[in-house]
Amino acid sequence: MGGMGGVFTPANLAMYTYSHSSPVTYVDPDGNEIVSQNPKNNAKLLLYINSLTSATFVFDKENKLQLSKTDSAKGGSRFYANRLIQAINSKETITIAVTNELGSVKKTDPKTGKVMVERVTIDGVGGGGVTLSSKFDVHGPQVVGISGHTSKPVSDVSGKPMKLSPSEVLMHELVGHAIPHVVGGGTGNAIQNENIVRQELNKPLRGPDSVPHPE
Ligand SMILES: [Zn+2]
Repeated sequence: MGGMGGVFTPANLAMYTYSHSSPVTYVDPDGNEIVSQNPKNNAKLLLYINSLTSATFVFDKENKLQLSKTDSAKGGSRFYANRLIQAINSKETITIAVTNELGSVKKTDPKTGKVMVERVTIDGVGGGGVTLSSKFDVHGPQVVGISGHTSKPVSDVSGKPMKLSPSEVLMHELVGHAIPHVVGGGTGNAIQNENIVRQELNKPLRGPDSVPHPE
């Protein structure tokens, strides 16, 4: 869609290979995976994921995401599908939660000196999604939280406001942040990673944020 505005480098796609061959059943050899935190969310998460990926994923009995089949007629993003497969194969676990309860932080009122506890929500701080890494190492286990709500407005490459659907929010958190942390970097920028998927899906590309948005 339109100009790429310097936020997307097609050369990045060359880094990733993906096969549209016969259906594959994948068995995780090392117990590391992408897991759903609550089986009640599995159907919703699969809808979010499979609506954007070129392959079809399922959750197994242990709530681990598995590749079910590849289907060249399905359409969707091959990059997103391939990144999920890479994450399933990686040595770290990504846990996906659907929640708006992120926790609370203690803040000191600068005027009164009183300590207040402020409730933090994913919609409040993350615009619909947040990726949390281990405190000590960004490359450790990842927790992706999404509220399941549409995001706050962001800008497309022409500066027009756009909102991300819950499926796009989840894609941003996975492709933009969590998967680069466990598999290795994409472009270095979360929005540029997101735009590789958007470009494959012929969706309007997202413009840069006013502040840097690293993986
Ligand atoms: Zn982000």
